[in-house]
Amino acid sequence: MSRFMLPRLEALEAYVPGEQPRDRKYVKLNTNESPYPPSPSVLEAVSRGELEDLRLYSDPTCAALKAALADGYVVKPENVFVSNGSDETLSFFFAAYCGGETAAYCPEISYGFYPVFAQFYGAPYKAVPMEDDLSIDYRRFLGVDGNVVIANPNAPTGIALPVSQLREIAESIPDRVLCVDEAYVDFGAESALPLIKELPNVLVVRTYSKSRSMAGARLGFAFGPPEIIADLEKLKYSFNPYNVNRLTQLCGAAALKDGGYYRDCCAKIIREREYLSGELKALGGETTPSEANFVFVRFPGCDGAELCAELKARGVLVRHFNIPAIKDYLRITVGSRDECETLVARLKEIGGAK
Ligand code: PMP
Repeated sequence: MSRFMLPRLEALEAYVPGEQPRDRKYVKLNTNESPYPPSPSVLEAVSRGELEDLRLYSDPTCAALKAALADGYVVKPENVFVSNGSDETLSFFFAAYCGGETAAYCPEISYGFYPVFAQFYGAPYKAVPMEDDLSIDYRRFLGVDGNVVIANPNAPTGIALPVSQLREIAESIPDRVLCVDEAYVDFGAESALPLIKELPNVLVVRTYSKSRSMAGARLGFAFGPPEIIADLEKLKYSFNPYNVNRLTQLCGAAALKDGGYYRDCCAKIIREREYLSGELKALGGETTPSEANFVFVRFPGCDGAELCAELKARGVLVRHFNIPAIKDYLRITVGSRDECETLVARLKEIGGAK
């Protein structure tokens, strides 16, 4: 850090994304990307003319994309926010609502970016303890004196809460906001989207990075009551009005024409998840009940960091978190059948070598 950095940012511990190494070709099961390409309409969305139009700024209102999202999810455009990845929406959420005395309450084991945002915006961060099986007891969030951010399904456990419990949390904090991060909801969990029409204090955050195979396009979106969306828009116009680039806006709208394609991809991923979980259990693995596009597994007696390194040496990337409560777990993205088979074969090799 340079001597010019502001003292208040000295202690900031930046988020560490999963690695994207270029040194060799890996079976990449470490950042929850989709094994399938974007849909046919997306592949055709960017013409040469559109590339020539890159000389022009993107539409700061993202009108066509918002209209397509509103249509696809049966809400009004004023219920929709779009951003440069969902991380940006989350950042605006923390910037708008968390800070000073107002805390962010999050499950203790969850997406590692939440405490970073809290620290960035100077908000007290309250890590709410997990149950022994790494599930969330929603009652711990009832009536808390701050905003609540819950990934549902949670990451990296994949465990989902029913919407009835999320509704209770939101109802119990009428002067605060519940942010439901649904990055992984398309892989089988129930969406809290209906809550935005019932309650004034719920924001539902989504992404194109997982179920829509567009992690590289950086496109996130969110649904909420118009007042909350207007707050996020105000921050966006105070930060980066052109936050979603031209090509991404086009691809995002095009993807909405191919709902069936993406439903098929999600169905395949759910099938592969069940296959992979079965294979891991057959090898002695203990998994959490995941409704996401990853499985979270530990092998009793096995050190998670070591196993992660041994897999990498054999050409397979998975994610390990250096957090005491989950230090023996690996988070493994559900890949294609071939990729899952390779992972299982490498685990068997490692087991055999011991
Ligand atoms: N929320 C959760 C729970 C995630 O795991 C991720 C992926 N790292 C994100 C949000 C952010 O996704 P993106 O910015 O690619 O939309």
